Amino acid sequence: MNCPRCGQTDSAPEHQSRCVAGRADGPKDALVLGAGLAGLSAALRLVRMGWKVTVLEADDHVGGLAASHTLKTEWGEFDYDNGPHRFHTTDKHVMDEAMSLIGNDIVWAARQSRIYLYGRFFHYPLQGGNVLRSLPPLVLAKAFLDYILVKLRNIVSRKPDDNFENWVVNRFGRKLYDVFFGTYTEKTWGIPCNRISADWAAQRISLLSLWDTVKKTLFRSRDGNVPRTYVSKFFYPRRGGIGKLCERYTEEIRNAGSQVITNARVDEVHHAEGRIAGVSVMLQGRRQRFDATRVISTIPVTVLAKLLAPAAPVEVVRSVEAMKHRSMIFVYMILSRPTVTPDHWIYLPEQTLTTHRLSEFKNFSAESAPPDKTLLCAEITCDYGDAEWNMSDAELQAIVVKDMGRLGLIRESEILKTFSRRERYAYPIYDLEYRAHRDRVLAHTNSVGGLITTGRQGLFKYNNMDHSIGMGLAAAENLAGQGADHARVASGQEYFG
Ligand SMILES: Cc1cc2nc3c(=O)[nH]c(=O)nc-3n(C[C@H](O)[C@H](O)[C@H](O)COP(=O)(O)OP(=O)(O)OC[C@H]3O[C@@H](n4cnc5c(N)ncnc54)[C@H](O)[C@@H]3O)c2cc1C
Repeated sequence: MNCPRCGQTDSAPEHQSRCVAGRADGPKDALVLGAGLAGLSAALRLVRMGWKVTVLEADDHVGGLAASHTLKTEWGEFDYDNGPHRFHTTDKHVMDEAMSLIGNDIVWAARQSRIYLYGRFFHYPLQGGNVLRSLPPLVLAKAFLDYILVKLRNIVSRKPDDNFENWVVNRFGRKLYDVFFGTYTEKTWGIPCNRISADWAAQRISLLSLWDTVKKTLFRSRDGNVPRTYVSKFFYPRRGGIGKLCERYTEEIRNAGSQVITNARVDEVHHAEGRIAGVSVMLQGRRQRFDATRVISTIPVTVLAKLLAPAAPVEVVRSVEAMKHRSMIFVYMILSRPTVTPDHWIYLPEQTLTTHRLSEFKNFSAESAPPDKTLLCAEITCDYGDAEWNMSDAELQAIVVKDMGRLGLIRESEILKTFSRRERYAYPIYDLEYRAHRDRVLAHTNSVGGLITTGRQGLFKYNNMDHSIGMGLAAAENLAGQGADHARVASGQEYFG
């Protein structure tokens, strides 16, 4: 049941009776927690509707997952993102908003990416002829045979699509599952594929599918629709990385007289009589309380639920504990050569390589690094606090150099500097129980009137930048009583990142 005031999905009747969103009599001011794309787009939308907004961000910079940084060195300046970020959207409203913020100082890039399999690089998305010529014939023959076998077996007795492994094998056969889906997915998620929800396959398979990509390459869609994975043209800021988008949002919000406060980690969320009452923050060493009757939260919903005071019921806290995120280490290396690859990024599914993706920002914008140097980013997925998470830059460099040596891409002697960043909440893990736990936690946060949780982290949803912007815009419109549904954004089928 949707709340008629704020649009919260599946909201309890008690929430609806207390919800203060969009009440004409209330003051037009709001707090927004988190200055990623969802929080900032929500804030700017409210500001443009005449609201006063305060955005509270834990980090010392805005942007969240879509933040960028510039490193000034003796060799010049290097821009880099939290892993490669390519902006694409089919939503004209979101595209217009992004373009108007970024302005003309952009470059257009034609996506180039490859995948490393069986000791060779393949263009990605795969090109049919290239695949047929280059994959070992035995692998192709076995994949084809398995595909036919599974189709026949499905006629007699089909296994239920009750986990990622079954979902994939039912559609593509065992060999393709083994070659690509299984290894890449287990490497990225760190849990066996029969523990991963089939939701993940349904959402993501277009990116991961060898078979599908071969079919799609050979038989182009008749309706002319190009799947998200195949969209090749995208814009990127000439300087400053994709994080420019969030910086521009912040400027607009501040120019309109509202606030974006960094280094402001929310550590308590107060509610009383079923309504939001405010939040507390440690700010410059002092504890400060911000009272509010309307709050949009884009921080991880698992964090939000635990910050609630009075505390959430024990079964909600148990669900929070059961919801896991996969973390990510970004290992950056400055190299004493103009470029390493022609690619925006390269996928590395093989289990024997620790790195799972490699990207080169110079290929996003040539001006992101000095002409004679380049910056590579190697992504390593891990669990928060595990051995890899705690590795020093020297240890991480040793791993990446070993991986890159296997690919024949770089030599250790070319590395001028290595540094790293870590992202605890990189991917929400869709394990077999995630949906029930997420729904229980969201039902509790939704029961607090005047509180809307949204964005990738706020809804525990694997999504792209444009979706987070869409969720932010919709949440702002909900709060202002315009009846959008932020929880339904990003229910499409194809995701990258
Ligand atoms: C490696 C990687 C590559 C990706 N590549 C792409 C791509 O190519 N294209 C694409 O479209 N998308 C990509 N994405 C997805 C995209 O980055 C995200 O969907 C989007 O940036 C999420 O924005 P958000 O605002 O919803 O969440 P976030 O960016 O996570 O924002 C949440 C904010 O809340 C803050 N916060 C957390 N706790 C607190 C607290 N207690 N108090 C105050 N603030 C707090 C955080 O610091 C953060 O700034 C990628 C993601 C990853 C991880």
